[in-house]
This record gives sequence, structure tokens and C-alpha cells, in this order.
Amino acid sequence: MKGDNPPGATADLPLGPWRAGENVPWTVSWTGEQEFDLQISQDFPGLVDLAQVQRPGIGLPKFAALHVTRHRTAMAKLLCHVCGKPTEKSDRYLFPTDSGGFVTLPDESRRYASNVPPVHLACARRAQKQCPHLRGAGAIPIPYPHEAAPLMPRTDVVEGMEKLAQSMGQNLKIVYSCYRLHGKRFSERVERLRERNM
Ligand SMILES: [Zn+2]
Repeated sequence: MKGDNPPGATADLPLGPWRAGENVPWTVSWTGEQEFDLQISQDFPGLVDLAQVQRPGIGLPKFAALHVTRHRTAMAKLLCHVCGKPTEKSDRYLFPTDSGGFVTLPDESRRYASNVPPVHLACARRAQKQCPHLRGAGAIPIPYPHEAAPLMPRTDVVEGMEKLAQSMGQNLKIVYSCYRLHGKRFSERVERLRERNM
């Protein structure tokens, strides 16, 4: 089943019908996928993953809400945010000025934390044309760093999941989301890029 343009769609949005992995990024969730469960975490030993039912293409895309399971899989395996296929080292990019944020480590150093999976360069170019947010911001794809960037869990309740969190067990450490904590050099580079864009 293909989604249609939502009522009130404007010229800023790509024209429907919506297709997962084409004009809707692979990691975006759909209204037909709003069922959740818990499972033993594959990526974070000792923790429990929030898992979301997989029915991409059913209903309408929810551009503001990433699919919990596809997002985590893409972050862990470095799959492309747009098409969902693996990214090779030589073709792996980020939009670090327009996604993610900075965290301060116990030693007071500031590190860039990316919460959106990488993209292929061709997929980045397509996203620049189709995504009103990226287009408006003049976002530029930056090659993924060579520095190690460990995958980190977020067990605090992320925005938009408060209701769901209330319905889950109280005593479990649940992984709601995850991010990559980038190294010193790349973090400094992202900081400089952001300053230039201000
Ligand atoms: Zn791709």
C-alpha cells in the first residue's frame, strides 16, 4: 500500500505517493507501525531494547519520528538513513551541522553526538533536493570520520515517547534510542562548521 500526500501538504514537501527508501527515508516511521514491544538488546548487553513493528509503507510517513528498530539497526550497522543499504567506508557521509548535538564528557571535553545514521553520497544529494529541512538549511554532506565513534544507548525517555515509556515496565533499563559519540578531532571540526553556518 502506498501513502498519499497528507492533507495540507505544501509545495515544500516532495510530491507523493510516498515510497519508503525513495522519497521517504528508510528510517522514518509510518502511521501503520505504531506498535511497540521489548526485547533483549543485541547491541547493549544487559539492557532491553524498545522494538517497533515493521510495516514500512503502511499509512503515512511520520517524518518527525524515526522508526525505533530501523533507526537502531542503521546506527549499529552503519546502514544508509535514506535507502537502508550498507554504507562502505569510501561512501559514508553525515549532515553534522543539521543533526545531532554536543555532549560534555566528565573531563569537560565537548563531543559531537550524531543521532542520524550515515548516508551514501548519492542519497545525500537526493535528500538535499527532497528534504525541505536540509534544503532550507543549505546542509552539506561531510565524509564520515575515520576516528572511532562508539555506539551509545539512550535509556532516558526521548522526546515524543513519554506516553509509551509510562506504559512500559518501571524497573527495566530500556534503550529508547542511541547515538554515535564522535572523537575529539571530528567533534572540533563539526563545531567549526556550525560556527561558520551561524
Ligand atoms: Zn543510501
